[in-house]
Amino acid sequence: MEYISTRSGSEPFSASAAILKGLCPDGGLFIPREMPKLSPSFTLTKGAWYAMYSAMLPFFEGDELEDDLEEICRSAFSFPVPFHHADGKDTLELYYGPTAAFKDFGARFLAFSMEKLLEKRGMDLTILVATSGDTGGAVASAFHGRNHLSVKVLFPRGRVSRRQELQLTGWDGNVESFEVEGTFDDCQRMVKEAFMDSSLSGLSSANSINLGRLLPQMAYYVYASSLYKLEYGEEPVIVIPSGNVGNATGAYWAKAMGAPIKRIVLAANANRPLTDYIATGKYEPRASVKTLANAMDVGAPSNIERLFALFPDFDSFRSNVPVYSVSDDEIRKTIKEVYDESGYVICPHTACGERVRRDHVEEAHSIVVSTAHPAKFSDTVEPIIGRTIAIPKSLYEIMQKPSKAKHIAADYHLLFENR
Ligand SMILES: *Cc1c(COP(=O)(O)O)cnc(C)c1O
Repeated sequence: MEYISTRSGSEPFSASAAILKGLCPDGGLFIPREMPKLSPSFTLTKGAWYAMYSAMLPFFEGDELEDDLEEICRSAFSFPVPFHHADGKDTLELYYGPTAAFKDFGARFLAFSMEKLLEKRGMDLTILVATSGDTGGAVASAFHGRNHLSVKVLFPRGRVSRRQELQLTGWDGNVESFEVEGTFDDCQRMVKEAFMDSSLSGLSSANSINLGRLLPQMAYYVYASSLYKLEYGEEPVIVIPSGNVGNATGAYWAKAMGAPIKRIVLAANANRPLTDYIATGKYEPRASVKTLANAMDVGAPSNIERLFALFPDFDSFRSNVPVYSVSDDEIRKTIKEVYDESGYVICPHTACGERVRRDHVEEAHSIVVSTAHPAKFSDTVEPIIGRTIAIPKSLYEIMQKPSKAKHIAADYHLLFENR
Protein backbone atom coordinates (compact mmCIF):
# COMPACT_ATOMS: atom_id res chain seq x y z
CA MET A 1 0.00 0.00 0.00
CA GLU A 2 1.51 3.32 -1.09
CA TYR A 3 0.64 6.94 -0.47
CA ILE A 4 1.13 9.78 -2.92
CA SER A 5 0.63 13.54 -2.82
CA THR A 6 -2.60 15.33 -3.77
CA ARG A 7 -0.21 17.51 -5.80
CA SER A 8 2.03 16.08 -8.46
CA GLY A 9 5.68 15.27 -8.26
CA SER A 10 6.18 13.32 -5.06
CA GLU A 11 7.57 9.79 -4.85
CA PRO A 12 5.36 7.27 -3.02
CA PHE A 13 5.54 6.85 0.76
CA SER A 14 4.61 4.00 3.09
CA ALA A 15 1.82 4.58 5.63
CA SER A 16 4.40 4.80 8.43
CA ALA A 17 6.55 7.32 6.57
CA ALA A 18 3.44 9.39 5.81
CA ILE A 19 2.43 9.35 9.49
CA LEU A 20 5.88 10.51 10.64
CA LYS A 21 6.09 13.18 7.94
CA GLY A 22 2.60 14.69 8.28
CA LEU A 23 2.73 16.76 5.11
CA CYS A 24 4.14 15.68 1.70
CA PRO A 25 7.45 17.28 0.74
CA ASP A 26 5.67 19.10 -2.13
CA GLY A 27 3.16 20.66 0.29
CA GLY A 28 0.30 18.34 -0.69
CA LEU A 29 -1.60 15.86 1.47
CA PHE A 30 -1.04 12.10 1.50
CA ILE A 31 -3.70 9.97 -0.24
CA PRO A 32 -3.67 6.26 -1.10
CA ARG A 33 -2.33 5.63 -4.60
CA GLU A 34 -5.33 3.34 -5.04
CA MET A 35 -8.24 3.11 -2.61
CA PRO A 36 -8.12 -0.35 -0.98
CA LYS A 37 -11.25 -2.51 -0.77
CA LEU A 38 -12.76 -3.61 2.50
CA SER A 39 -11.09 -6.88 3.49
CA PRO A 40 -13.14 -10.11 3.53
CA SER A 41 -11.88 -10.49 7.10
CA PHE A 42 -13.74 -7.32 8.19
CA THR A 43 -15.93 -8.33 11.10
CA LEU A 44 -18.34 -6.75 13.56
CA THR A 45 -18.38 -9.73 15.87
CA LYS A 46 -15.44 -8.71 18.03
CA GLY A 47 -16.59 -5.22 18.98
CA ALA A 48 -15.92 -1.70 17.80
CA TRP A 49 -12.15 -1.46 18.22
CA TYR A 50 -11.59 -4.73 16.39
CA ALA A 51 -13.92 -3.72 13.55
CA MET A 52 -11.98 -0.48 13.23
CA TYR A 53 -8.74 -2.44 13.20
CA SER A 54 -9.99 -4.73 10.44
CA ALA A 55 -11.20 -1.72 8.41
CA MET A 56 -7.75 -0.09 8.69
CA LEU A 57 -5.69 -3.19 7.94
CA PRO A 58 -5.76 -2.85 4.11
CA PHE A 59 -4.32 0.68 4.46
CA PHE A 60 -1.27 -0.83 6.21
CA GLU A 61 -0.69 -3.78 3.88
CA GLY A 62 3.06 -4.41 3.71
CA ASP A 63 3.75 -1.56 6.15
CA GLU A 64 6.14 -1.86 9.07
CA LEU A 65 3.18 -1.24 11.41
CA GLU A 66 1.02 -4.01 9.93
CA ASP A 67 1.81 -6.50 12.70
CA ASP A 68 1.45 -3.87 15.45
CA LEU A 69 -1.83 -2.46 14.18
CA GLU A 70 -4.09 -4.70 16.25
CA GLU A 71 -2.34 -3.73 19.50
CA ILE A 72 -2.30 -0.03 18.54
CA CYS A 73 -6.04 -0.08 17.80
CA ARG A 74 -6.83 -1.96 21.01
CA SER A 75 -4.96 0.71 23.04
CA ALA A 76 -6.12 3.75 21.07
CA PHE A 77 -9.84 2.90 20.74
CA SER A 78 -10.38 1.91 24.35
CA PHE A 79 -13.79 3.57 24.72
CA PRO A 80 -17.32 2.89 23.40
CA VAL A 81 -18.76 4.16 20.08
CA PRO A 82 -22.51 3.96 20.75
CA PHE A 83 -25.56 4.86 18.70
CA HIS A 84 -28.42 6.92 20.01
CA HIS A 85 -31.35 5.18 18.31
CA ALA A 86 -34.36 7.09 17.04
CA ASP A 87 -36.26 4.85 14.59
CA GLY A 88 -33.52 4.86 12.00
CA LYS A 89 -32.81 8.57 12.34
CA ASP A 90 -29.93 7.67 14.58
CA THR A 91 -27.01 9.60 16.03
CA LEU A 92 -23.50 8.20 16.31
CA GLU A 93 -21.90 9.42 19.53
CA LEU A 94 -18.20 9.88 18.90
CA TYR A 95 -17.52 11.59 22.22
CA TYR A 96 -16.62 8.90 24.74
CA GLY A 97 -12.87 9.43 24.46
CA PRO A 98 -10.85 11.22 27.16
CA THR A 99 -11.56 14.76 25.89
CA ALA A 100 -15.16 14.05 24.86
CA ALA A 101 -14.90 14.79 21.13
CA PHE A 102 -14.25 12.74 17.99
CA LYS A 103 -10.69 14.10 17.73
CA ASP A 104 -9.69 11.61 20.44
CA PHE A 105 -9.87 8.75 17.90
CA GLY A 106 -7.36 10.33 15.53
CA ALA A 107 -5.10 11.90 18.15
CA ARG A 108 -4.82 8.65 20.11
CA PHE A 109 -4.17 6.53 17.05
CA LEU A 110 -1.48 8.97 15.94
CA ALA A 111 0.18 8.98 19.38
CA PHE A 112 0.26 5.19 19.71
CA SER A 113 1.52 4.67 16.14
CA MET A 114 4.22 7.33 16.44
CA GLU A 115 5.34 5.82 19.75
CA LYS A 116 5.71 2.42 18.10
CA LEU A 117 7.59 3.82 15.08
CA LEU A 118 9.99 5.85 17.25
CA GLU A 119 10.61 2.87 19.51
CA LYS A 120 11.66 0.83 16.44
CA ARG A 121 13.97 3.65 15.35
CA GLY A 122 15.31 4.55 18.81
CA MET A 123 14.35 8.16 18.11
CA ASP A 124 12.53 10.94 19.99
CA LEU A 125 10.19 13.59 18.61
CA THR A 126 8.73 16.80 19.97
CA ILE A 127 5.23 17.65 18.77
CA LEU A 128 4.36 21.34 18.48
CA VAL A 129 0.66 22.26 18.51
CA ALA A 130 -0.84 25.71 18.23
CA THR A 131 -4.45 25.58 19.35
CA SER A 132 -7.37 27.95 19.64
CA GLY A 133 -9.57 25.35 21.25
CA ASP A 134 -10.16 21.61 21.18
CA THR A 135 -7.34 20.14 19.11
CA GLY A 136 -4.68 20.95 21.71
CA GLY A 137 -6.59 19.16 24.45
CA ALA A 138 -7.10 16.00 22.40
CA VAL A 139 -3.43 15.96 21.35
CA ALA A 140 -2.14 16.67 24.89
CA SER A 141 -4.29 13.92 26.36
CA ALA A 142 -3.38 11.42 23.64
CA PHE A 143 0.39 11.99 23.84
CA HIS A 144 0.61 12.29 27.63
CA GLY A 145 2.74 9.44 28.99
CA ARG A 146 3.76 8.11 25.55
CA ASN A 147 7.44 7.17 25.32
CA HIS A 148 9.81 8.90 22.87
CA LEU A 149 7.37 11.79 22.47
CA SER A 150 6.96 15.15 24.10
CA VAL A 151 4.41 17.83 23.35
CA LYS A 152 4.46 21.62 23.51
CA VAL A 153 0.99 23.14 23.32
CA LEU A 154 0.73 26.86 22.50
CA PHE A 155 -2.45 28.79 23.10
CA PRO A 156 -3.23 32.51 22.97
CA ARG A 157 -3.70 34.13 26.37
CA GLY A 158 -7.32 35.03 27.05
CA ARG A 159 -8.62 33.70 23.74
CA VAL A 160 -9.67 30.18 24.66
CA SER A 161 -12.63 29.36 26.86
CA ARG A 162 -12.03 28.61 30.56
CA ARG A 163 -12.97 24.97 30.06
CA GLN A 164 -10.76 24.57 27.03
CA GLU A 165 -7.87 26.18 28.91
CA LEU A 166 -8.24 23.73 31.80
CA GLN A 167 -7.88 20.87 29.30
CA LEU A 168 -4.58 22.32 28.07
CA THR A 169 -2.79 23.37 31.23
CA GLY A 170 -3.06 20.53 33.78
CA TRP A 171 -0.49 18.21 32.21
CA ASP A 172 2.90 17.23 33.56
CA GLY A 173 5.68 14.92 32.41
CA ASN A 174 6.06 14.97 28.63
CA VAL A 175 3.34 17.59 27.95
CA GLU A 176 4.07 21.30 28.46
CA SER A 177 1.65 24.13 27.81
CA PHE A 178 2.52 27.71 26.92
CA GLU A 179 0.19 30.64 27.37
CA VAL A 180 1.38 33.04 24.70
CA GLU A 181 1.10 36.84 24.87
CA GLY A 182 -0.49 37.11 21.44
CA THR A 183 -3.17 35.80 19.12
CA PHE A 184 -3.76 32.35 17.65
CA ASP A 185 -1.99 33.56 14.51
CA ASP A 186 1.09 34.41 16.62
CA CYS A 187 1.04 30.87 18.03
CA GLN A 188 0.86 29.39 14.52
CA ARG A 189 3.67 31.67 13.34
CA MET A 190 5.88 30.55 16.26
CA VAL A 191 5.33 26.91 15.32
CA LYS A 192 6.19 27.61 11.67
CA GLU A 193 9.33 29.53 12.65
CA ALA A 194 10.46 26.70 14.93
CA PHE A 195 10.03 24.21 12.05
CA MET A 196 12.15 26.44 9.81
CA ASP A 197 14.96 26.86 12.36
CA SER A 198 17.65 24.42 11.21
CA SER A 199 19.31 24.43 14.64
CA LEU A 200 16.24 22.63 16.03
CA SER A 201 15.67 19.01 15.05
CA GLY A 202 13.22 16.25 15.91
CA LEU A 203 10.13 18.44 15.62
CA SER A 204 6.81 17.23 14.23
CA SER A 205 3.14 18.16 14.17
CA ALA A 206 -0.09 16.37 14.93
CA ASN A 207 -2.62 18.38 12.97
CA SER A 208 -5.71 17.05 11.28
CA ILE A 209 -4.11 16.60 7.85
CA ASN A 210 -1.91 13.79 9.24
CA LEU A 211 -2.82 10.42 7.71
CA GLY A 212 -2.69 8.91 11.20
CA ARG A 213 -5.56 11.14 12.29
CA LEU A 214 -7.59 10.51 9.17
CA LEU A 215 -7.59 6.70 8.99
CA PRO A 216 -9.39 6.14 12.33
CA GLN A 217 -12.11 8.50 11.08
CA MET A 218 -12.49 6.29 8.01
CA ALA A 219 -12.62 3.25 10.29
CA TYR A 220 -15.51 4.35 12.51
CA TYR A 221 -17.62 5.05 9.43
CA VAL A 222 -16.99 1.51 8.17
CA TYR A 223 -17.90 0.15 11.60
CA ALA A 224 -20.98 2.33 12.11
CA SER A 225 -22.47 1.95 8.61
CA SER A 226 -21.95 -1.83 8.68
CA LEU A 227 -23.61 -2.13 12.08
CA TYR A 228 -26.46 0.12 10.94
CA LYS A 229 -27.01 -1.96 7.80
CA LEU A 230 -27.08 -5.11 9.91
CA GLU A 231 -29.71 -3.65 12.25
CA TYR A 232 -32.00 -1.93 9.74
CA GLY A 233 -31.23 -3.74 6.49
CA GLU A 234 -30.72 -0.34 4.82
CA GLU A 235 -27.72 1.79 3.93
CA PRO A 236 -27.71 5.04 5.92
CA VAL A 237 -27.22 8.57 4.64
CA ILE A 238 -24.45 10.03 6.81
CA VAL A 239 -24.64 13.70 7.86
CA ILE A 240 -21.35 15.19 9.11
CA PRO A 241 -20.82 18.51 10.92
CA SER A 242 -17.75 19.85 9.11
CA GLY A 243 -15.04 22.49 9.36
CA ASN A 244 -11.65 21.32 8.08
CA VAL A 245 -13.52 18.37 6.46
CA GLY A 246 -11.14 15.78 7.93
CA ASN A 247 -14.00 13.89 9.53
CA ALA A 248 -15.97 13.99 6.27
CA THR A 249 -12.94 12.84 4.24
CA GLY A 250 -12.86 9.75 6.47
CA ALA A 251 -16.47 9.01 5.47
CA TYR A 252 -15.74 9.41 1.74
CA TRP A 253 -12.79 7.03 2.05
CA ALA A 254 -15.01 4.53 3.90
CA LYS A 255 -17.61 4.72 1.10
CA ALA A 256 -14.91 4.38 -1.58
CA MET A 257 -13.69 1.21 0.19
CA GLY A 258 -17.15 -0.29 -0.08
CA ALA A 259 -18.72 0.53 3.30
CA PRO A 260 -22.56 0.44 3.10
CA ILE A 261 -23.15 4.19 2.95
CA LYS A 262 -26.01 5.52 0.77
CA ARG A 263 -24.61 9.02 0.48
CA ILE A 264 -22.76 11.63 2.53
CA VAL A 265 -24.07 15.11 3.36
CA LEU A 266 -22.02 17.89 4.96
CA ALA A 267 -23.37 20.34 7.52
CA ALA A 268 -21.48 23.62 7.84
CA ASN A 269 -22.09 26.57 10.12
CA ALA A 270 -22.12 30.19 8.90
CA ASN A 271 -18.63 29.63 7.45
CA ARG A 272 -19.43 29.01 3.80
CA PRO A 273 -16.32 28.25 1.71
CA LEU A 274 -17.81 24.93 0.54
CA THR A 275 -21.47 25.97 0.54
CA ASP A 276 -20.57 28.83 -1.79
CA TYR A 277 -18.28 26.63 -3.88
CA ILE A 278 -21.02 24.17 -4.80
CA ALA A 279 -23.37 27.08 -5.53
CA THR A 280 -20.97 29.08 -7.71
CA GLY A 281 -18.16 26.76 -8.87
CA LYS A 282 -15.61 29.18 -7.40
CA TYR A 283 -13.55 27.95 -4.45
CA GLU A 284 -12.61 30.96 -2.37
CA PRO A 285 -10.87 30.35 0.97
CA ARG A 286 -11.43 33.24 3.39
CA ALA A 287 -11.10 34.35 7.01
CA SER A 288 -13.37 32.47 9.41
CA VAL A 289 -16.34 33.96 11.25
CA LYS A 290 -17.21 33.16 14.87
CA THR A 291 -20.22 30.91 15.49
CA LEU A 292 -21.71 28.81 18.29
CA ALA A 293 -20.24 25.70 16.63
CA ASN A 294 -16.73 27.09 17.06
CA ALA A 295 -14.77 23.93 16.25
CA MET A 296 -16.17 24.35 12.72
CA ASP A 297 -15.17 28.01 12.36
CA VAL A 298 -12.98 27.39 9.33
CA GLY A 299 -12.74 29.55 6.23
CA ALA A 300 -10.04 27.53 4.45
CA PRO A 301 -10.66 23.81 5.09
CA SER A 302 -7.27 22.09 5.45
CA ASN A 303 -8.38 18.71 4.11
CA ILE A 304 -10.14 20.08 1.02
CA GLU A 305 -7.38 18.90 -1.35
CA ARG A 306 -8.26 15.32 -0.46
CA LEU A 307 -11.90 15.86 -1.50
CA PHE A 308 -10.77 17.57 -4.71
CA ALA A 309 -8.57 14.52 -5.41
CA LEU A 310 -11.61 12.22 -5.04
CA PHE A 311 -13.92 14.43 -7.13
CA PRO A 312 -11.66 16.34 -9.52
CA ASP A 313 -14.27 17.98 -11.70
CA PHE A 314 -16.87 20.41 -10.41
CA ASP A 315 -19.92 18.38 -11.48
CA SER A 316 -18.80 15.24 -9.67
CA PHE A 317 -17.85 17.32 -6.62
CA ARG A 318 -21.23 19.01 -6.55
CA SER A 319 -23.20 15.80 -6.89
CA ASN A 320 -21.15 13.90 -4.31
CA VAL A 321 -20.56 16.63 -1.73
CA PRO A 322 -23.83 18.34 -0.85
CA VAL A 323 -23.17 21.03 1.77
CA TYR A 324 -25.71 23.09 3.70
CA SER A 325 -24.98 25.98 6.05
CA VAL A 326 -26.71 26.39 9.41
CA SER A 327 -26.99 29.73 11.23
CA ASP A 328 -26.52 30.31 14.97
CA ASP A 329 -30.29 30.87 15.32
CA GLU A 330 -30.95 27.52 13.68
CA ILE A 331 -28.38 25.89 15.98
CA ARG A 332 -30.23 27.21 19.07
CA LYS A 333 -33.60 26.25 17.61
CA THR A 334 -32.45 22.72 16.83
CA ILE A 335 -30.92 22.07 20.27
CA LYS A 336 -34.26 23.13 21.79
CA GLU A 337 -36.41 21.20 19.32
CA VAL A 338 -34.53 17.94 19.90
CA TYR A 339 -34.55 18.40 23.68
CA ASP A 340 -38.27 19.23 23.81
CA GLU A 341 -39.17 16.23 21.62
CA SER A 342 -37.16 13.55 23.37
CA GLY A 343 -34.99 14.93 26.17
CA TYR A 344 -31.89 14.23 24.08
CA VAL A 345 -29.14 16.83 24.50
CA ILE A 346 -26.81 17.67 21.60
CA CYS A 347 -23.85 20.04 21.19
CA PRO A 348 -23.93 23.01 18.76
CA HIS A 349 -21.91 21.11 16.11
CA THR A 350 -24.20 18.10 16.23
CA ALA A 351 -27.13 20.53 16.00
CA CYS A 352 -25.86 21.66 12.59
CA GLY A 353 -25.99 18.04 11.45
CA GLU A 354 -29.46 17.48 12.90
CA ARG A 355 -30.79 20.66 11.25
CA VAL A 356 -29.47 19.53 7.87
CA ARG A 357 -31.03 16.09 8.33
CA ARG A 358 -34.40 17.64 9.17
CA ASP A 359 -34.35 20.12 6.30
CA HIS A 360 -32.48 18.35 3.51
CA VAL A 361 -32.43 14.56 3.94
CA GLU A 362 -35.55 12.83 2.63
CA GLU A 363 -34.40 9.26 3.19
CA ALA A 364 -35.82 7.45 6.25
CA HIS A 365 -32.45 5.96 7.15
CA SER A 366 -29.69 8.26 8.29
CA ILE A 367 -26.95 8.80 10.84
CA VAL A 368 -26.02 12.22 12.19
CA VAL A 369 -22.51 12.20 13.58
CA SER A 370 -22.30 13.69 17.07
CA THR A 371 -18.83 15.22 17.25
CA ALA A 372 -18.68 16.38 20.89
CA HIS A 373 -20.33 15.88 24.26
CA PRO A 374 -22.79 18.74 24.92
CA ALA A 375 -21.14 19.43 28.32
CA LYS A 376 -18.12 20.80 26.46
CA PHE A 377 -20.38 23.61 25.28
CA SER A 378 -22.47 24.05 28.41
CA ASP A 379 -22.35 27.88 28.13
CA THR A 380 -24.39 27.61 24.94
CA VAL A 381 -26.48 24.52 25.60
CA GLU A 382 -27.57 24.87 29.25
CA PRO A 383 -29.46 28.19 28.84
CA ILE A 384 -31.31 26.75 25.82
CA ILE A 385 -32.52 23.58 27.52
CA GLY A 386 -32.90 25.17 30.97
CA ARG A 387 -30.93 22.65 32.95
CA THR A 388 -27.34 21.73 33.73
CA ILE A 389 -25.48 18.91 31.97
CA ALA A 390 -23.15 16.55 33.84
CA ILE A 391 -19.54 16.63 32.65
CA PRO A 392 -18.09 13.26 31.57
CA LYS A 393 -15.77 11.85 34.23
CA SER A 394 -12.60 11.82 32.10
CA LEU A 395 -13.03 15.48 31.19
CA TYR A 396 -13.78 16.40 34.80
CA GLU A 397 -10.60 14.68 35.96
CA ILE A 398 -8.45 16.52 33.40
CA MET A 399 -9.99 19.82 34.43
CA GLN A 400 -9.31 19.28 38.15
CA LYS A 401 -5.55 19.36 37.71
CA PRO A 402 -3.73 22.57 38.73
CA SER A 403 -2.56 24.76 35.87
CA LYS A 404 1.08 24.33 34.91
CA ALA A 405 1.06 26.65 31.90
CA LYS A 406 4.08 28.88 31.33
CA HIS A 407 3.42 32.46 30.31
CA ILE A 408 5.69 33.51 27.49
CA ALA A 409 6.05 36.31 24.96
CA ALA A 410 5.30 35.44 21.32
CA ASP A 411 8.88 34.32 20.54
CA TYR A 412 9.47 30.67 19.60
CA HIS A 413 12.94 30.57 21.19
CA LEU A 414 11.24 30.69 24.61
CA LEU A 415 9.64 27.27 23.91
CA PHE A 416 13.04 25.64 24.07
CA GLU A 417 14.52 27.24 27.19
CA ASN A 418 15.62 25.10 30.19
CA ARG A 419 15.46 21.91 28.22
C1 LIG B 1 -13.02 19.50 14.88
C2 LIG B 1 -14.48 19.45 15.14
C3 LIG B 1 -15.43 19.49 14.09
C4 LIG B 1 -15.04 19.66 12.64
O1 LIG B 1 -14.38 18.52 12.13
P1 LIG B 1 -13.52 18.66 10.79
O2 LIG B 1 -12.81 17.37 10.65
O3 LIG B 1 -12.59 19.82 11.01
O4 LIG B 1 -14.47 18.92 9.68
C5 LIG B 1 -16.78 19.39 14.41
N1 LIG B 1 -17.19 19.30 15.69
C6 LIG B 1 -16.31 19.26 16.72
C7 LIG B 1 -16.83 19.17 18.11
C8 LIG B 1 -14.93 19.33 16.49
O5 LIG B 1 -14.07 19.32 17.53
